[in-house]
Parts: sequence; C-alpha cells; structure tokens
Amino acid sequence: MIHDTDRKHLQRSVDLASEALDSGNEPFGSVLVSSKGHVLFEDHNRIGGGDHTQHPEFAIARWAANNMDAKDRATATVYTSGEHCPMCAAAHGWVGLGRIVYASSAAQMTEWLAELGVPTFRVRPLPISEVISGTIVEGPFEEFAMQVRALHIRSHSG
Ligand SMILES: [Zn+2]
Repeated sequence: MIHDTDRKHLQRSVDLASEALDSGNEPFGSVLVSSKGHVLFEDHNRIGGGDHTQHPEFAIARWAANNMDAKDRATATVYTSGEHCPMCAAAHGWVGLGRIVYASSAAQMTEWLAELGVPTFRVRPLPISEVISGTIVEGPFEEFAMQVRALHIRSHSG
C-alpha cells in the first residue's frame, strides 16, 4: 500500500527516467528518501558514456554506504522507476538499505522490450526478491508503470 508521499517520490523517479532518456541514457531514475521523508540523493541512468554499470540504484547504494550509518540506511526507502536489476539489488542488499518501491517491474520491462523487438539482456531480469532477502519490496503501480512503458517506447522508436 502506498501513500501520497510514495506517489510523489515515484513520480520523481519517473521524471528522472525521462531526463535520463533526454540526455542520451536509458530511461531509469531513482530517489533515496530518509525515514523522516527527506530526499537524500537521486540519480538517473548514465550508461550513455559506455559504462553499463552506471545505474541509479547502484549510485544510491554507493552514496548510502559513504554518507549514512547502518541504522539510517536500514530505515531509508529507495523509489525507482524500474525494479532493480540483479547487480543493483545485490548492491542494495550489501549496503543494508531498506524498503524498495518501484513503478514498473522487471517482468513488465521484459514484456515491453520483447514487444519492441529489443534483444534480451545478458543479465537476467530477476525479481529483487530472488536476489536479496529481508527487504520490503512494493510495486508495480499501474499509473506509473504506464509512464515508464511510454519512455521505453520512446527510447526504442526512431
Ligand atoms: Zn541496475
């Protein structure tokens, strides 16, 4: 169950995904929010330069490891436009971050990219719960997932 504050941060993550696409990257964005509701860090996908590990969820994990204590990490929430890939889910787990709320699932993205004729990735689109344990994971949320779908269509058209 998500609340208005969750919706606000989910919308921001989708807006960041749109910014990523506009700047030559893939459409993914993420926001790190403290237990008190403060936005601590946000980023979007930056693989346009050729480094395919430049995912926003991975950037958040590194930022959290360097700037937050263990208790604050465990009570923070990561909002993201697309469910973490296995690399980012592992990073999230390794640094002990808390709840994840995603707009669209890895399964949805797999379906959308197949519809668009995009070849499957070498890294499997596993659900977060198959990569890490002990994390509350919520999503997808249709109203936001449809926006993310539109971004993927824009990303692979023309
Ligand atoms: Zn990732």
